[in-house]
Amino acid sequence: MPAPLLHIETSPTLPDEADVVVIGGGVVGVFTAYYLARSGVKVALLEKGRVAAEQSSRNWGWCRQQNRDARELPMATRSLELWDKVAEETGEDAGFRRCGLLYLSQDEAEIASWAKWRDFAKTVGVETHMLSAAEAAERGTATTYLWKGGVFSPTDGVADPSRAVPVIARGIMAAGGTVHQNCAARGLELSAGRVTGVVTEAGVIRTKTVVMAGGAWASSFCNQVGIRFPQAAVRASILSVAPGAMDLPDALHTSQVSITRRMDGGYTLAISGRARVDTTPQQLRFSREFIPMFIRRWRSLAPGGLGGWCEGHETLKKWSLDDITPMEKNRILDPKPDEGQIRLTYQRAKKLLPELAKFPIANRWAGYIDSTPDGVPAIGEIEAVPGFILAAGFSGHGFGIGPGAGHMIADLITGRSPLVDPNPYKPERLNRSAWGNVADF
Ligand SMILES: Cc1cc2nc3c(=O)[nH]c(=O)nc-3n(C[C@H](O)[C@H](O)[C@H](O)COP(=O)(O)OP(=O)(O)OC[C@H]3O[C@@H](n4cnc5c(N)ncnc54)[C@H](O)[C@@H]3O)c2cc1C
Repeated sequence: MPAPLLHIETSPTLPDEADVVVIGGGVVGVFTAYYLARSGVKVALLEKGRVAAEQSSRNWGWCRQQNRDARELPMATRSLELWDKVAEETGEDAGFRRCGLLYLSQDEAEIASWAKWRDFAKTVGVETHMLSAAEAAERGTATTYLWKGGVFSPTDGVADPSRAVPVIARGIMAAGGTVHQNCAARGLELSAGRVTGVVTEAGVIRTKTVVMAGGAWASSFCNQVGIRFPQAAVRASILSVAPGAMDLPDALHTSQVSITRRMDGGYTLAISGRARVDTTPQQLRFSREFIPMFIRRWRSLAPGGLGGWCEGHETLKKWSLDDITPMEKNRILDPKPDEGQIRLTYQRAKKLLPELAKFPIANRWAGYIDSTPDGVPAIGEIEAVPGFILAAGFSGHGFGIGPGAGHMIADLITGRSPLVDPNPYKPERLNRSAWGNVADF
């Protein structure tokens, strides 16, 4: 079942040419096109289905610095500042609020790891408070467990996944850009190895610059033009309960279950990191590169099925640019939720927070989370194909850092000083082994 999502209009005409074409209407592509349009760049955004219908509406909505890998922390901090400005810039509410994120634990080792992160965060000016057992009990008063401690990050927050990205997409159009839904990019036109155009299902757009922000579809698209991008997706399942629960934290993480208050007053419930690995041709191709990641996360990953093989997002097949492509056959990647996990999540949530037992499951869905072998996104121009900028592999953290990523990409294109140092994200690093480099989640 798809996640709830605000519907937006599509621009009436596909342009013949544009300064920049952005492929993919998720949080990354949409914020990229938004900052480009606001800089006066002629930009067209292509989305094969509906804006935000894949990962960018299926997530919890957390915009966090807490426990971020050092490579991503500057982008997370700057993204929060950008989220702060969205309502004023667009005149619409994207549901962003700095409600703070609460982490509670019964495990001394986990608390020690948070304290270690707090010591590092202090050195870069990020505010986070360790909680004693008594403070954890006070903040977690709605819970039934006895906590040994916790952490509260007051400057972090959440945005509403069902409307944030569509609201920004409207902002693209308001700033003079165009947004084309139900319009897949089939491939690139190249001249002497350089980008000269994008072939879409509705015609060709001449351009010298393309941003590939296709989420879980990015690697198969790159494969068409001979770019090797190691990427693999896992299937996470999640549920929501109807509005009405009282006196619960806005955003709470525990090892058992995590909850997030939605803008409509309902709650999203999930088990952090828990996902299934569905076998696909791409999973097999890049399996060796992902071994360090799987070793790091083996406790929370379980084998899936063959459903992902048929979805087409991780195909290794080459397609023709004048025929229907896998992206047109599958407008919205909407995998089946894992019912066992949904039941377990709901049971754990009711045990942790008895108030939730009053509210039945309202909705359930799953999403493929695309990842790189080191868990850090791949963002930057591909040297072998000038004009082609890759922005994918956000590894389960892309919603919160979408604004910063989009701003940084727009800066690189327009020649401004980038919002954050782009070097940690360069795709070339993925040609090296990920051993020892897997991100802290
Ligand atoms: C259950 C779950 C919980 C999560 N929780 C969080 C969280 O709390 N905080 C957080 O920061 N992150 C979270 N994430 C991760 C976050 O949602 C993703 O990292 C982020 O949304 C990725 O954005 P994206 O734009 O790269 O990809 P997507 O949102 O997947 O968008 C890519 C888009 O590109 C389109 N597309 C692909 N190929 C083409 C093509 N050829 N032509 C046209 N369009 C194309 C697709 O249709 C899709 O809409 C979570 C993810 C899931 C699934």
